[in-house]
Amino acid sequence: ARAAEAGAGNRILAPGVKAIVAVASGKGGVGKSTTAVNLAMGLARLGKKVGILDADIYGPSIPRMLGIKGKPSADGRTLNPMEAFGVKAMSMGFLVDEDTPMIWRGPMVMSALEQMLRDVAWGDLDVLIVDMPPGTGDAQLTMAQRVPLAGSVIVSTPQDIALLDARKGLNMFRKVDVPVFGLVENMSTFVCPNCGHESHIFGHGGARRTAEKMGMDFLGEVPLDIRVRETSDEGLPIVMTDPDGPQAAAYMAIAEKV
Ligand code: ADP
Repeated sequence: ARAAEAGAGNRILAPGVKAIVAVASGKGGVGKSTTAVNLAMGLARLGKKVGILDADIYGPSIPRMLGIKGKPSADGRTLNPMEAFGVKAMSMGFLVDEDTPMIWRGPMVMSALEQMLRDVAWGDLDVLIVDMPPGTGDAQLTMAQRVPLAGSVIVSTPQDIALLDARKGLNMFRKVDVPVFGLVENMSTFVCPNCGHESHIFGHGGARRTAEKMGMDFLGEVPLDIRVRETSDEGLPIVMTDPDGPQAAAYMAIAEKV
């Protein structure tokens, strides 16, 4: 308990940032980064000054999802964030080659994150979205403890196995007294692009039930939709590039609750 307290005292601050919100998931591949990007875009559309920090040091995907190439410039110790669609962004992916594996151990990861929070010229931001590394291991717990988070959003697919891990995420944040804003069900209903038939490939409604059972809010569902995947891969977040479509509407409904 004392070590935890010492850790909590050693907080990593991001000057000028009003609120830091973590987007987390119990496991990888559920759409955490896609949700983080489109949530950031949604908050920007609501008129907020937004940044996104890719804390997924081992598998940074934000540069690709935002279509950002090139490297950030530096003023002395301070790095200038990159920008896409009016949202500021920082990622380890801007600093190392795409094919270079990060072979760092925990403490180095924490110091990289510390620099990406403290030594980046974020400017005045209303919200900094942090795309957390997947899972609920030591690094995630340390981050949840050391970064002064205003709250967190947990992303899950409707499958039981993913929801089990999402519950671990909830418990992790509760343990360190970070408010959980709620759960998002991603890859929910699949609508056939040819005939419009709806199917529930990973199930449906599981996240809402889990949220209710665990006493957290349900923030909404995002369909399993080829346009979400394509726009992510193209670096053209759907909330900005097809702002009137049903996919953007799903993300905007979530952004309004965060
Ligand atoms: P995570 O951050 O949880 O590992 P990603 O956001 O990288 O997951 O998503 C994994 C893959 O699934 C990506 O190729 C992404 O484009 C795709 N994806 C995410 N959400 C959806 C969705 N709602 N519909 C279709 N594809 C999606």
